[in-house]
Amino acid sequence: MSTQGKPRVLLMHPILDPGPAILAEAAEVVPYPPDRPLDEASIRSHAEGCTGIVSQVMDPIRETVLSTPGLKVVSNVAVGFDNIDVAAATAHKVMVTNTPGVLDDTTADFAFTLLMATARRVVEADYFTRQGQFRGWAIDMMLGTDIYGATLGIIGIGRIGRGVAHRAKGFNMRVLYYDPNPLTREAEQQLGSERVDLARLLVESDFVSVHVPLTEQTHHLLSTQQFGQMKHSAILINTSRGPVIDEAALVEALNARKIAGAGLDVYEREPAVHPGLIPLANVILAPHIASASVRTRSEMSAMAARNMATAVRGGRPPNLLNPEVKR
Ligand code: NAD
Repeated sequence: MSTQGKPRVLLMHPILDPGPAILAEAAEVVPYPPDRPLDEASIRSHAEGCTGIVSQVMDPIRETVLSTPGLKVVSNVAVGFDNIDVAAATAHKVMVTNTPGVLDDTTADFAFTLLMATARRVVEADYFTRQGQFRGWAIDMMLGTDIYGATLGIIGIGRIGRGVAHRAKGFNMRVLYYDPNPLTREAEQQLGSERVDLARLLVESDFVSVHVPLTEQTHHLLSTQQFGQMKHSAILINTSRGPVIDEAALVEALNARKIAGAGLDVYEREPAVHPGLIPLANVILAPHIASASVRTRSEMSAMAARNMATAVRGGRPPNLLNPEVKR
């Protein structure tokens, strides 16, 4: 508790309106100093005396932080929560919350944006034009890959994967998906999608879009062997988490033309980008912005703040990931 009688909450990074006001009603908000490193020891030293932490994807919230005495809740401003050791949180009776649902359409829009921009070489074409290289129409200039009617393979058909499948319908695409949790027959029919194993998805798809959470099982799900199974003309899109793809193997596959291109929003060692990706014209690199619309980032901020406010007032937060902590 603070001198104001409100529980203290460590805000790792600023969030958008109306998040700050929601938090301030329920807690004394302690900002994490922007000049401090985002390592566990430093986070713990600032979390001392706090009931809650509002974290983001770049914050490592593991044993060292989660064992801070008095810590009761960590509210992550993201749907992914691979930056938090949820098992350790549960062991220390710390609630963990995330922000599912509010970012599905924005993220699916961006996966499709990357797909289209990579297929039709939009970034390369813009650069070409700005450089004054456009000297007249030419029949073989900037030839790309057709999207309409192509086959799209979706790895992970959860909220965002389904959003991408839905968009693909408008492009008359054949949609294959790979997921240990199958859709219902009805949902498959509605989305016009067919469940296949990973090898078949890779062999048959013109585009492969990844939408799995980062877990032990999905770490390096796509590596040398999988790139070898893909079409030479295939384009890979990743808006999930960087380590799902073996980045060194991807660079090798792109250089060897085992696959034709990639549209990436996330990286194995963010914010570092594999140096081998930088010179490649057949790759589009975005700085982890798939959920970055004004509306969605505000909704994520509000949702994370509400999760925190409910928890510090003693309630059960709506997006609780480890309900066993709060019976
Ligand atoms: P979700 O939980 O609704 O869906 C994930 C799907 O992946 C589930 O259907 C699950 O069964 C499936 N899955 C799990 N393990 C798998 C495996 N080994 N192989 C194939 N499928 C597997 O999650 P969501 O809300 O759709 O989000 C997916 C991920 O996208 C998040 O975990 C997050 O890491 C990432 N994400 C990134 C951004 C961004 O800014 N780039 C934005 C939002 C979400």
